[in-house]
Amino acid sequence: MRVRLSVNSGFCWGVKRAFDKVLGALQCGDTVHTLGPLVHNENAIRMLEKRGLRACREVSQIESGTVVVRAHGIVPELEQELLARGLHVVDATCPHVRRIQQRVEKAAEEGRHTCIVGYRDHPEVVALAARAGDACSVIANVGELSEVPTDTPIFLAVQSTFNRSLFEEIRHAVTRDHEDVVVFDSICRATSKRQQEVRSLAGQVEAVVVVGSHTSSNTKRLAEIAGEEGVPTFHVTAADELDPARMSRFGTVAVVSGASTPNWVTRRVVEALLDVSPGGYGVRHMVRRLFLGMVESGLYASVGAAALTVAACRLQRVPVRWEYLAAALCYIFSIYTLSRLQQRGEEPAPTRRVAFLHAHLRTMSVVAVLFAVAAVGIATRLGTISAALIGTSYLLGIGYAVPIIPKKWGFRYKRLQDIPASKDLFAAGAWTAVCAIIPFAHAGALTSPAAAVATWMFVFLTVSAKATMYDSVDIQGDRVVGRETLPALLGERKTWQVCGGLLAASSASLAAVAIISSEWTPLALLAGPAYATLYLPLLRRGTVRLEDLNVVIVDGQLFLLGALSYILSSQWPTTSP
Ligand code: SF4
Repeated sequence: MRVRLSVNSGFCWGVKRAFDKVLGALQCGDTVHTLGPLVHNENAIRMLEKRGLRACREVSQIESGTVVVRAHGIVPELEQELLARGLHVVDATCPHVRRIQQRVEKAAEEGRHTCIVGYRDHPEVVALAARAGDACSVIANVGELSEVPTDTPIFLAVQSTFNRSLFEEIRHAVTRDHEDVVVFDSICRATSKRQQEVRSLAGQVEAVVVVGSHTSSNTKRLAEIAGEEGVPTFHVTAADELDPARMSRFGTVAVVSGASTPNWVTRRVVEALLDVSPGGYGVRHMVRRLFLGMVESGLYASVGAAALTVAACRLQRVPVRWEYLAAALCYIFSIYTLSRLQQRGEEPAPTRRVAFLHAHLRTMSVVAVLFAVAAVGIATRLGTISAALIGTSYLLGIGYAVPIIPKKWGFRYKRLQDIPASKDLFAAGAWTAVCAIIPFAHAGALTSPAAAVATWMFVFLTVSAKATMYDSVDIQGDRVVGRETLPALLGERKTWQVCGGLLAASSASLAAVAIISSEWTPLALLAGPAYATLYLPLLRRGTVRLEDLNVVIVDGQLFLLGALSYILSSQWPTTSP
């Protein structure tokens, strides 16, 4: 099946802003409340609740702590009540909604009757109507126009997420029937763009899948619009609501999501659709599944580690031995599997790799332990330093998520995992140890120590860049579970700058190896960072939104480095240990 994912998917900027304010308040260790759910996703809410968020229905349920006003805004009297109770109120009302509120207040001061086009139970509309006072009507269709008095000046505003074509119809009727009407077209741009896109996509595909809560107004609008365009439309809240047999009738499907649907939920839906094969499950599907199985099991990344080892050996003038490659492959496979086993249940929505692990739990556990035994055995065969390096890497890898400092001591950092941005640094350190330092330690000083250190830097920076690139794909998910990856700490814009910096530094390390060893061949490996630099803008724009595909492409750099080093073998002098 071909899947077209809408460009305007994921949180709109207003919801993202509110989401960030909640995460910021949670980070301060306070109990944080919202009146109603912050985002329309139960999984995300459950994860946020684990971190201290309480979604309450009534003000009376909140006794202390912080209250974050959602993007929809709040009724002024409720806000006053919260402040009167001595609560810390953080206003995360979307600035666009705030503008509508101000215009409604101004219209009320001018003595105009406010007519809000929207749904009377929607929190944004409730907060707007409260600002208009008694001179206010809320209508959702032309049939309700009779509720608007004809003998008074009118201020016409619209709920920010309302259906544009329906609003145009109502606007036309109001301006026709009333003499003095001030119209404020307050449908926000984020909503308009989504609605335009779903209309355009509906004309190009055989079916539309709308992802988001059934209680989300803007998501329901998207489903309505797709339905109006005459295409079969499926409104789902999560991937497991899709019926593969039903979806297999369609060759091309568009996926759109509401403004408060987390990215990771939409991604899982796209991945589930890609697994549906309209023409039956033929050879192509089997090959694709086999390849994805390699990615999901971690085997792909492990072979990538072996490829990087080939490059590290060449750069250090160390002959490539099967033991080096096997140690790197076995270590990376086992440590990734074991740490994912340790962190089961921490994901806001299991990625395909986590789902794969769940589905093959026993097999994967046994294979991971066998690979770990093999890695330690091979390293021991290579000597004491190699055994010590791999043993330390395992200790740090497995101990990474284990509490070291007792909870009762009250420190914020109880596990290595709690140290901000530590995950990528530890991973890069372990990759450097197994891919580059072990071959060097075993073979002895065959190149100058300076060239060896430059090679280690190259490996470290390459792995750091790739880890940061992965993490940038799911910043929202990482922040929800409190995982302080570099992108979650820095935010998107700075993350891309850091990625660029890491790739530039890895190129500089290669140049250093070339200069120190007076050879041109290390410069051929600049193709690796160049490839990643070319891919960076695509990742940044979200062109490749599938996690597995991102893994395939980002790790592709390792295969490129390994292949180039192998092809140029004859150009690369090595010295036998
Ligand atoms: S849909 Fe528009 S108005 Fe509503 S929160 Fe998002 S950006 Fe703000």
